[in-house]
Amino acid sequence: MSSQSFNARAEQPPLNGQAAPEAQARPSLPGSTQSVHAGERRFRAHDSLTVPIVQTAVYTFDDTAALAGYYEERMFWEEPEREEYGRYGNPTVRAVEAKLAVLEGAQEAMLVSSGMAAVTATLLLMLASGDHMILADQCYHATLTFCEKVLKRYGVECTAVPCGDYAALEAAIRPNTKLIYAESPTNPFMRCLDYPRLVDIARRHQLKTVVDTTFATPLNLRALNLGVDVVIHSVTKYLAGHNDVMAGAVVGSYEMLTPLRQAQGMLGCIVDPHAAYLILRGLKTLGLRMERHNANGLAVARFLEEHPKVRRVWYPGLASHPDHAVATASMAGFSGVVTFEIDGDREQTYQFIDALRIPTVGPSLGGVESLISPLALMGYADLPQEERDALGISDQLVRLCTGIEETGDLLADLSQALAQI
Ligand SMILES: *Cc1c(COP(=O)(O)O)cnc(C)c1O
Repeated sequence: MSSQSFNARAEQPPLNGQAAPEAQARPSLPGSTQSVHAGERRFRAHDSLTVPIVQTAVYTFDDTAALAGYYEERMFWEEPEREEYGRYGNPTVRAVEAKLAVLEGAQEAMLVSSGMAAVTATLLLMLASGDHMILADQCYHATLTFCEKVLKRYGVECTAVPCGDYAALEAAIRPNTKLIYAESPTNPFMRCLDYPRLVDIARRHQLKTVVDTTFATPLNLRALNLGVDVVIHSVTKYLAGHNDVMAGAVVGSYEMLTPLRQAQGMLGCIVDPHAAYLILRGLKTLGLRMERHNANGLAVARFLEEHPKVRRVWYPGLASHPDHAVATASMAGFSGVVTFEIDGDREQTYQFIDALRIPTVGPSLGGVESLISPLALMGYADLPQEERDALGISDQLVRLCTGIEETGDLLADLSQALAQI
């Protein structure tokens, strides 16, 4: 490919998750290598090694014949090999999508403006008035509100069932049930799905399954390989990885993704090319980062479980976690999120948090910096006390999202802060 040609076609990464031959990630390659190379063409305009930020809203045509050819391709439902207008596609965004598809072992991935845009667009497109869906109840709060309150206005009924109760899940199925939605691992108790059971129930009743695997990433868990139909990510978290950009992704087969892809230009939930570049850059180190997040999560969980000032720890890598067996069967690592309860009162809990020197108080997770939150004050603060109690969110409950700092430094910091209460 000539470095002089600086048109959309030359810049064009593959549209469908199939990388150009020179960059095609072979399935045998580990995710950490794929995250560096997959989805990108090796030779680009100006011989740039990195995928350029194609900062444009408009793509031009050489002449009217080129324009006519473009529409002809689209009419026959072929993915055109170039872009036309920014809301329908961008080469920098396509490179992220192709990389994510390879990482998940999927045919197709769609990048959208946030994790919630991925959740809402997917559910709006997969459901119609008169349909019913089932939701595992320990899910992201905005997802729960969308399913129970917003979808209801459009005639979609939703039943929330207790996370991990497969009998309740099967009992909730009605003739008009269309899909099961779950997260794994969940926030904040890190509950993990028993995939063979979930997929067996869904297949026997001809239901689609949608799983938000934000807390796992494709390096720890490839849910599509386990039989799930659609995977959702908040790319804001581990995938982008640096607490500096917001995006979401929907990943699955052509069949599942095509209606979503076609609606994206209408819904408008697109990602800016510059944000796409930051995500692409973040993804290059996904393997290294997840190795450290997994190691930090496990070391911190083990340390806290042994500590006399900690009442209980929730981390799927611990034998004490209710889903340790199913998590071990499906996941390569358990990520960096550790939730625990301080053995003390509310004031002692806040004292401990304020005494920490490395983790900063803040929401979110998955970035290089460690973040800590007292959950009753963060994420659940707007709920009435009874609702918080029902969810198990006590005043002593703390969520530590370990970053990529040295494990020993984090343990020493936790140790000195716990010694102060
Ligand atoms: C953060 C998060 C979301 C929402 O993603 P945004 O990028 O913040 O919109 C959805 N699901 C899970 C599990 C999350 O952690």
